[in-house]
Amino acid sequence: MTTITSNWQAVHAAIAAAARAAGRDPATVDLLAVSKTFPASAVREAYAVGQRAFGENYVQEAVEKMAELADLPIEWHFIGPIQSNKTRSIAEHFAWVHGVDRPKIAARLSEQRPAGLPPLNICLQVNISGEDSKSGVRPGEVEALAQAIAGLPNLRLRGLMAIPAPASGETERAPFARMRELQQQLNAHGFRLDTLSMGMSHDFAAAIHEGATLVRVGTAIFGPRNYGETT
Ligand SMILES: *Cc1c(COP(=O)(O)O)cnc(C)c1O
Repeated sequence: MTTITSNWQAVHAAIAAAARAAGRDPATVDLLAVSKTFPASAVREAYAVGQRAFGENYVQEAVEKMAELADLPIEWHFIGPIQSNKTRSIAEHFAWVHGVDRPKIAARLSEQRPAGLPPLNICLQVNISGEDSKSGVRPGEVEALAQAIAGLPNLRLRGLMAIPAPASGETERAPFARMRELQQQLNAHGFRLDTLSMGMSHDFAAAIHEGATLVRVGTAIFGPRNYGETT
């Protein structure tokens, strides 16, 4: 068995265990395999074990990989920071975008989504730990952004995404709980958000405990990243 295969199986089992421990059905938590910096061959291996959704951060790298993997029905998610000059390529190639935090970016993605493709699934990024350096809207601004996006024809607002500041022990779950409360608040105001995109290799169990429906896991599946070798 290859490392990717055994890692994937271990992550899959850990996700199911975390869900059961939280009293949740494991089928309510989706695994997004984050393949940034890894070659198409690594994606192919994870696909062979059963993985279907992959996350990428860099548009150019992702589009090249997609071309090599065009024979596989993969669901591609864009999870990196979004530059305005990259929105067209993102709108053309991806099924989901997780890092939306500005109305202008959302408007461009909607305008540039090619006719004939289904609406682009969107998660709004929330700066849930209030870090100055992080992208994402402040929790108090999420509803206004959701409102702005709800009117865009080629987007489908699915949920919220966050990358909380690193924490451990008793404080680890708090930001994830605040994300769940935000989602509930928006849904109480008429939105229909079904996705909480939160939890990575080091904290997915805590995120699942607080209601994550999609965890984004890279390192635990593919191993450590070597940024020096990417193009
Ligand atoms: C890279 C990345 C991940 C995966 O992180 P790991 O710690 O390798 O699991 C998840 N989400 C986002 C937004 C990322 O950029």
